Amino acid sequence: MEIRIEISDKRENPTERETVLHGAGQEAPACGAECAVGREIRARSREELFAACRRAGRTRAGSWRIFLNAEAECGQCAHGPEAGTSRAAALLQEAGASPAEEPLLQEAVRCLYDGAYLFRKDCLKELAGQPVFAHRDELADCGSGVYTFVLSGLSEEAAVAAAERGKLLGTCKGYARSLGNLPNNYLHAQQMTDYVRALTEALGEGVSCRILDHEELERLGCGALLAVNRGRKEEAFLVTLEYAGGKQTDRKLALVGKGLLFDSGGYHLKSISGMNGMKYDMCGAAGVLEAFEFLVRTRTPVNLMAVLALGENLIGPEAVKMGDVVTTLSGKTVEVYNTDAEGRLALCDALTWAQRCGASQIIDLATLTYSAQAALGDETGALFGNRDELCRDIQKAAEAADEAIWRLPTGERYHRLLEWSICADFANYAPDKGAGASVAACFLENFIESETGWLHLDIVGPSVIRSATEEMAEGASGFGIASIAAYVQSMVRSKKTV
Ligand SMILES: [Zn+2]
Repeated sequence: MEIRIEISDKRENPTERETVLHGAGQEAPACGAECAVGREIRARSREELFAACRRAGRTRAGSWRIFLNAEAECGQCAHGPEAGTSRAAALLQEAGASPAEEPLLQEAVRCLYDGAYLFRKDCLKELAGQPVFAHRDELADCGSGVYTFVLSGLSEEAAVAAAERGKLLGTCKGYARSLGNLPNNYLHAQQMTDYVRALTEALGEGVSCRILDHEELERLGCGALLAVNRGRKEEAFLVTLEYAGGKQTDRKLALVGKGLLFDSGGYHLKSISGMNGMKYDMCGAAGVLEAFEFLVRTRTPVNLMAVLALGENLIGPEAVKMGDVVTTLSGKTVEVYNTDAEGRLALCDALTWAQRCGASQIIDLATLTYSAQAALGDETGALFGNRDELCRDIQKAAEAADEAIWRLPTGERYHRLLEWSICADFANYAPDKGAGASVAACFLENFIESETGWLHLDIVGPSVIRSATEEMAEGASGFGIASIAAYVQSMVRSKKTV
């Protein structure tokens, strides 16, 4: 079943059906995010619009009229003229958009998909042994709602294009959520690389992928990623997708994702509640992969890479132990204090690799530390970066995409907490020192060259909806994809280079 999105510039004359939905003589629906009776959305702000779209999507049925630019008066109820969404549109325009309604429409449509997405558990029965990519459309069910956007300021062509982009972004987010929701025994690193290969083929011209296997990782010296995966018989992989969307001389933006298909904690074994949900420890990798797909399919004129560090953190005779020293791809050595601080080990080789492949700017997305969640809660991601301007840009983009992120500090006072090892250049953990998210970010920063712009999103909290809400179903959330997409789109609109 599929969502239907329609565009209308008819602000008067609701159809017969809509009149019926309004219900003659019924109590006038309250003004605000949505008319409960009328199935209309007339939001007073951008946040309200997006939340109402998610709630409307979540109903997964019926027909809705969504007033994008709510200047029109509602004939049937007590709405007055509202300038709320116009104000929202103006804010988006500030973020580099033009005309203002375009990105607003894109994100509103995407929010409908956010709300409508459900993981089809029935499909798991059909999936056994089948390639995930071939079934990815069946894994998601978005219901059969019909949503009509009423708008005034856009040409039909521009509106249709923006709505199409919203559908695509919503669909790509859905793919990432399904990858996250798949049980680990359906999605090991090997299956994830199969997915990447199939996606590369589907994306066609301009996209290439390179998958480094165990042998190549050893030859290169990716000692950190390999150490994480040593408790497991199957291989770890470092996956690189490239898209030459920009000019040959343009520099490259790399999206780097943590892809721990399962994290038991290793010898620092997690408790039963701590291990619950550890199949989601690959949401960063799924997120950057699907952001990449969206940006390629919309032919974004940027030279782009997606780098995924794939493995599993398990226990076995070869598994890494406390006190072991590993040599990373960069040549720097790390003492493993905490085997459950493995994400940063997997990522550090991926960061070095991305820079060796020519990335001059990096955004990494990772379910990295519980400290970030402890500090900011379940709905807000932690942002770190080594350039104030880039941090501001992604904060603006996240705001436009209705994702909450908050910048936390890095700096010398956190860096030095890792510098206690007598055997290695630094450790992977600062025992009993607090500030775990900042310390983890500083660990990663040790692998960023001074000329590389770097943004790091620690998304343990918002990557998973832990229990269903009236806006979204339980499970992987796809957090980060919309912010990254908005960031890159805004960069292109404002003609900024990487
Ligand atoms: Zn861990």
